[in-house]
Amino acid sequence: MSKPLTIAIDGPAASGKSTLAHALADRLGYLYLDTGVMYRAVTLAALRRGIDLADEAALDELAESVVIDVVAPTVEDGRDCTVYLDGEDVTWQIREAEVDAGVSIPSSYAGVRQALTEQQRRIGERGNVVMAGRDIGTVVLPDADLKIYLDASAEERARRRWLERRGGGRSDSYDEILAGVRRRDEIDSGRAVAPLLPAADAIVLDTTEMDAQAVLAHVMGLVD
Ligand code: C5P
Repeated sequence: MSKPLTIAIDGPAASGKSTLAHALADRLGYLYLDTGVMYRAVTLAALRRGIDLADEAALDELAESVVIDVVAPTVEDGRDCTVYLDGEDVTWQIREAEVDAGVSIPSSYAGVRQALTEQQRRIGERGNVVMAGRDIGTVVLPDADLKIYLDASAEERARRRWLERRGGGRSDSYDEILAGVRRRDEIDSGRAVAPLLPAADAIVLDTTEMDAQAVLAHVMGLVD
């Protein structure tokens, strides 16, 4: 295969998408876009304005009107990228428990998805990009040169999240995290619009028994 210019990485929560996408983009000198941060930013905007996440029309309108920008890290504090919501740095706020618990609801709305998909496509069309999400290979960039779908058991994904959170000083229990991962999987896979699903031409990798280095080595073998 000649070097892929657009790489789509999809998979459920904590399957290792961000780690892989970030490392791949670094190796290739490509832009890394984590599309999950955009859904998180819309959710944060709604929570802050007191908009009920169940109000689909209000969420669709909000997604059209907020300005979300994702750029290379502006602060060296472990972040993968800096996320701006209407000009404010919300990189860490979008990782808070309330956003985590709610984000799959606005993500199921057609209007929200359309607004964010358009922005993602504009970035993808320029090439030299690794884009991670749930529907990149199926909807956002169906012509991507390389599509990877990462999976892992819910228990292993919850374990990874738990370790990550503990490292960040948060005390959510493993059982709470596992329940959250399962709940998000269910909503993300069951929604009518752009459900979580491997594209027909995606390479599916089960990473339950693989560490991040092994995943990267495997995918680099597909790229070179
Ligand atoms: O990737 P991350 O777990 O940060 O994504 C947060 C949520 O955003 C997902 O659970 C999903 O509901 C939504 N999402 C999506 N489509 C994408 C990326 C994320 O629906 N392309």
